[in-house]
Amino acid sequence: MKKSIDLNDCQTLDEQDPLRSLRAKFSQSESGAIHYDANSMGAMPKAVPEQVAWMLNEGWRNLSRQGWSKLDWLDKPKKLAAGIAHLLGANPEDVIVCDSTSINLYKLLSYAWRIRKGGNILLTESNHFPTDIYIAEGWVKTVQELGSEAEIRFADSHEEVMDSLNEEVAVVSLTYVDYRTSLRWEMSRLMQKAKEVGALVVWDLSHAAGAVRIDLMECDADFAVGCSYKYLCGGPGAPAYLFIHPRHQNQTWPTIAGWMGHLDVFAFAQNYEAHPSIISQTTGSPAIMANEIFSAAVEIWQEVQVDELDRKHESLTQLFWELLEQECGPLGAEMTSPRNHSQQGGHVSIRHPGAGPVSEALLEHGVVSSFRKPDSIRFGISPLYHSHEDIWAGIQRLKEVLSTEVWQEERFQKVSV
Ligand SMILES: *Cc1c(COP(=O)(O)O)cnc(C)c1O
Repeated sequence: MKKSIDLNDCQTLDEQDPLRSLRAKFSQSESGAIHYDANSMGAMPKAVPEQVAWMLNEGWRNLSRQGWSKLDWLDKPKKLAAGIAHLLGANPEDVIVCDSTSINLYKLLSYAWRIRKGGNILLTESNHFPTDIYIAEGWVKTVQELGSEAEIRFADSHEEVMDSLNEEVAVVSLTYVDYRTSLRWEMSRLMQKAKEVGALVVWDLSHAAGAVRIDLMECDADFAVGCSYKYLCGGPGAPAYLFIHPRHQNQTWPTIAGWMGHLDVFAFAQNYEAHPSIISQTTGSPAIMANEIFSAAVEIWQEVQVDELDRKHESLTQLFWELLEQECGPLGAEMTSPRNHSQQGGHVSIRHPGAGPVSEALLEHGVVSSFRKPDSIRFGISPLYHSHEDIWAGIQRLKEVLSTEVWQEERFQKVSV
């Protein structure tokens, strides 16, 4: 029989972890709760409050408008992008940090559609994040009103998307990792098929970047967007990022041709001339305070090798599954996310008939997870600030909640978002 895993084994894994020192760079919540919520809001780097205070006092109060010339406000979108590009498998000059994921999706979906000179947009229906669907629908409505015959086509499973890819599809919009089940696409296989029919693909990397390995260039990806406040720990309201393969850059005007994307911003020229780089996709003034917050995490990311990140994520999630089976096996919690690491994104999800009340009870027992209707609980696993011992502690608390059935109590029946 296989020896059961104990706390000592988890501590040994931590001692062998090349990323173990990074945990100390993050603030733990005052309640002492384990923050399994990297899929919604990554933890705060300890350096943030001091950096923000500096920016307020020196940047805003003292330098004020001169901050534009004396500090790196204008360059920050490029600098931040350069600090995370390796996590995406991209070159620094092909990534930029700006705006929200939704806006970046709009920019790239429409840009791809215009490069293709129109056609249909293919989406997945059941596992796409809502904003990704709305943005595509909004674009298609706009061009329909202007007389184009574009349509949205939906496919459900990965295989259905592969089967639906034909010459009528101009653009495919895909969430690289399903935000509910954590199922991850085979990016290179999809890209190959898309190339065969001439479709361009926009990937949403929100539930993968900062958790697992992404190989945009190796997979020959066309476009990608993603959000920075999840695994990337960019903080509430962090600016998102976008990637454009060099073969698609500077093909036509950006859809939102703002002054920040101009060749010479402070020339205040009357005529628009796009910056001949990814900078052309920036729109208005950068979010200077939010960029400053994000820069604390980016400083940490710069030290992280993506192979080490990926290996640690695999080690943490495998431990999660083994401990779930060992400790909670008979208690009705069943794993639903893929067990094979290459098919899995940042979070693990389990199914339990009382998922909502269980996640509420977990909060009181010091575990922050997230509930998704009807019966899923998600645990966002961060290779940056979770230890193997954290996994041990989280599973022990889950076991306590399930075995005592404390979650059945009245006060846990009202479920928060
Ligand atoms: C979180 C998330 C977003 C968020 O979009 P914002 O515009 O930044 O709020 C978009 N897409 C996916 C897949 C997400 O998980």
